[in-house]
Amino acid sequence: MRHSFRVTNAMRSYDTLVVARAYLKAGLKLILIHGIDDAGRCTCGQKDCPHAGKHPIGEYFPNGANSATSDIVLIRKTLRRHPKANTAATLKGRTVVDVDGPKGKQAVDALKLPKTVKVKTKRGYHHHFIGTPEGGTFKAEDVDVLTGSNRYAMLPPSVHESGFRYRWLRSRTNTAALVPDTLQRLRTGVDATVTAKRGRPTHAIKLGQRNDVLFRTACAIRRRIDDERIILEMMKIANSRACQEPLPDRELRSLIGSSSRYSETREDLFGPPIQRDPLPMEWLWYPYLPRYGMTLIAGDPGIGKSLLTSLLLATVTSDLNWPLSDEKPSGNRVLVLAAEDNWQRVVLNRLIKAGVKLDNLHQMYKFRALTNERLELFAEHMEEWRPDLVVVDTLSAYMGGGRDMHRQNEVGEFMALLTEMAESTGSAIVGLAHLNKTSTESPLYRIVGSIGFAASIRSALFFGPDPNDPTRVALAHGKSNQSEKGRTIIFEKVGGGREDVPLLKPVEFSDADHFDVCRVQKNAVGRPSSEAQAAETFVLEFLSDEPTAWKALELAAAARSISSPATLNIVRAELAKAGRIEQVGSGKNARWVLGEANTEN
Ligand SMILES: [Zn+2]
Repeated sequence: MRHSFRVTNAMRSYDTLVVARAYLKAGLKLILIHGIDDAGRCTCGQKDCPHAGKHPIGEYFPNGANSATSDIVLIRKTLRRHPKANTAATLKGRTVVDVDGPKGKQAVDALKLPKTVKVKTKRGYHHHFIGTPEGGTFKAEDVDVLTGSNRYAMLPPSVHESGFRYRWLRSRTNTAALVPDTLQRLRTGVDATVTAKRGRPTHAIKLGQRNDVLFRTACAIRRRIDDERIILEMMKIANSRACQEPLPDRELRSLIGSSSRYSETREDLFGPPIQRDPLPMEWLWYPYLPRYGMTLIAGDPGIGKSLLTSLLLATVTSDLNWPLSDEKPSGNRVLVLAAEDNWQRVVLNRLIKAGVKLDNLHQMYKFRALTNERLELFAEHMEEWRPDLVVVDTLSAYMGGGRDMHRQNEVGEFMALLTEMAESTGSAIVGLAHLNKTSTESPLYRIVGSIGFAASIRSALFFGPDPNDPTRVALAHGKSNQSEKGRTIIFEKVGGGREDVPLLKPVEFSDADHFDVCRVQKNAVGRPSSEAQAAETFVLEFLSDEPTAWKALELAAAARSISSPATLNIVRAELAKAGRIEQVGSGKNARWVLGEANTEN
């Protein structure tokens, strides 16, 4: 990229090929754009094209600015097919100030910009500069400041929809000036108009929160875009526009640096302890549900984990005593993510019956897998609502099809993000999981979704039949990182039947441990075709709104000894018939997604 630009006589020609050659010689990268035909219509052929004469010719420039070329052969070829084509160049290392109306002209005139080369447009001017302004592209009233390799600007001899032809203005200078700092003043102008329009002050980050908020913002950006340059540009905008008093540039950079695990310094990693005042352990329910961390509740499908979560939600939201205890929860707000059931018909009945106070409850309205973007929204909502208890039912359902729950690193990353959210808000996050049917392993290793789940959690609870009385259920504490394990609690199911929702009622402690509670029952009474049930649960968890090959699902099921392909086929037919899963594509390209009946409620 050259650091100068001069308008030559060739660039003033009306012959697009001649002009294009001159632009390429000057170092520009070009995109050919649909032109305007003799009848005044866009050459793309679309009636009333909304971007007439302004959108790239898809056939040769399919990715817009990213398809920009310096290849004269491609230009010539395109012009042969599209003789009316317009011309545009990307703005890598260059900036165009697009003045488009009287207010913009007034604002720009007031800046007394340096003399530079200009293009006359239909409604105003394009001032062309070399270089990139601090903070990049922005908009003000009647002015667009455009820059960067993924933006482009129309160049002469392009023709506007109105028939007006863009042209380089004759003036005392033929050379583009360096982008002036004074442009930034237009930005503040925008702030004023935005504020006025919305009728409320801009959200200023106060001095005391500045480092913290900026650091978290940098981390959030980095999670999506791991590009130092973009992070720096975005952070500069956040710093200059959202802070009551912006952080000095050098400090901003060092803060961005510390948001990156790759730019850690030795001192970031090793040294004497900085925090010397221990924080007390905090519990929502001692010792079962720690705050600032994750708890896993695992059990066989069908054992009634939803009744248990209803009990937890009721206890927290209504400030009731914990089971068999005279202690109350240390907070009353909950956030629920429940994938499985219909809210109004099923979940709500259960919650109301259990005594949940809905005023203290927030939920995720629709089942959507927690992609990293949605995790960001989730984290944002947690920051805002500050729930004391978060229930994710089930973890594997919310991990979604983009992650493979049988791979420890993918599970680990997901769990790490959830843990981070628990740590930053003080919530107790409870994830539900299913157990697979292998009887030989420790219950911790039977959690569907690999040991990755078990490794990241602070507490693990197992829910299963009471070994001494299979009509009752037991909650056993299988793992606790910071305390003694709690005692096993036995519950009775009361109520239920045609019109009623059953409830769990705690009755006594038991000496049975989680091994006893999770013992795989052979030929268990009253559990017909539990393989089919486990297969159904697995299919619904494994699929998401991202199309998945059935073969992948079969392999994953086989790897966890959940179900045979034959059973999976039967379950697939039933679920498809009920609209809970759907086939997309056919033959070799057939893929499966969760159906409408399963994703919307
Ligand atoms: Zn068009």
